[in-house]
Amino acid sequence: MSDSLACLRCSSPLDLVGEQDFRTGGATGFAGMFFGNLNQLSEGILALQMYRCPQCGHVEFFLPQG
Ligand SMILES: [Zn+2]
Repeated sequence: MSDSLACLRCSSPLDLVGEQDFRTGGATGFAGMFFGNLNQLSEGILALQMYRCPQCGHVEFFLPQG
């Protein structure tokens, strides 16, 4: 995985924070706050690679390779 990603806001190099797990679906899931009852159709764990900008705090998420 490359670490040469640049921040979209200030063009500083992004730091790789690591893999974060997000629960999708379910009444108390992360997505439940946004999608209401629709989230019950697809409940599971979504793992995303998280990058943050040390300059402005911008955060980006990417799907892990493979
Ligand atoms: Zn930035």
